[in-house]
Amino acid sequence: METSDGEKLNLIKRYYREYFKDAVKNRWLEIPEDIRHREIGYGYLKKVDNRNLSFDSEREYLRWVLDRSPFHLYKSLAYMEHPSSVGGAQKKGLFRREIAFDIDVHRVKRCTHKDDGWVCNHCLEEGKNQVFILIDEFLIPDFGLSKEDIRIVFSGNRGYHIYIKPRDEDIRNTIEHWGREERRCLIEYILGKNLNLNYVGSGWRRRILKAIKNKRLLAQLERSNNWKSIIERKSEREKKRILKIIEDVKNRLELDEKVMEDDIRLLRVIGSLHGYTGFVVKEVKYNSLEYFDPLKDAVYPKFNREYYNVKIKERIDSLRIGDNLYTYRSREVPVSVILYLFGHGVDFEIC
Ligand SMILES: [Zn+2]
Repeated sequence: METSDGEKLNLIKRYYREYFKDAVKNRWLEIPEDIRHREIGYGYLKKVDNRNLSFDSEREYLRWVLDRSPFHLYKSLAYMEHPSSVGGAQKKGLFRREIAFDIDVHRVKRCTHKDDGWVCNHCLEEGKNQVFILIDEFLIPDFGLSKEDIRIVFSGNRGYHIYIKPRDEDIRNTIEHWGREERRCLIEYILGKNLNLNYVGSGWRRRILKAIKNKRLLAQLERSNNWKSIIERKSEREKKRILKIIEDVKNRLELDEKVMEDDIRLLRVIGSLHGYTGFVVKEVKYNSLEYFDPLKDAVYPKFNREYYNVKIKERIDSLRIGDNLYTYRSREVPVSVILYLFGHGVDFEIC
């Protein structure tokens, strides 16, 4: 006997509920700081079906999460006087905002899947690689932050959220009171948007010089701040080649600018599940990021214990969970795969 769509949805909901029960009981679900001033959003089949929710206490928030167990759960980066008011920053009375980057990686050349929305080792590795670039080549050397000032969170899909949380209260106070303009400056700097070749500052100078292999050119650039005049004197071909190297260094990071800029932006609650994959939105310590394998470490272990008989009715890309590879021919799959297939809108039957 096969299940109807409604029964399938109920089954999925049951597992989300079970998950949140454990996450709340064992306290790994994030309770946004100063919950009364934060906006909560959530969704089931769409990412954000609903927003403008707020709670008076942590208990009330946790009770609501247990009751609803949404497939997507978000909190505002901003702290607001009226988080449940509908409208922009002004209506909501925004008075403070967390600083966070959203690295959202796309399919890379080496990916084993055709579907842009799928995941594999290669794109997941690229996401991690970009986290290291952002932290090791920008946040630490250019901004004087240390690893302890940064929180790394796997987004549950193909990216990471990087929160800047300086331990120094004064610095944290300063940056969390930044307005839109200041946050835009920060992200534009990191994306190299206002890079001026007439005068290349130290951070960008260091990053670009690292990418130049030609010794003679390197020596020339090292001697001067005005790179434009050096590049202008080169042949057309050479000029193009150098500019391409600079562009490539600038384009290494896929950062969602809106997440940095937008005043009332929502970001996934740490410890919730990502409704497209069923993976945990999971914090990863800097020192263990190198060995972090989302397809293993962000899968809730209980979701790999129970199996269902399924019939997958379309030719989908294969999916690795832990050490197992699943294809459209797989007949027996764990709950983790059921959640992933469901989240991706794959046509399948549970027998
Ligand atoms: Zn991939």
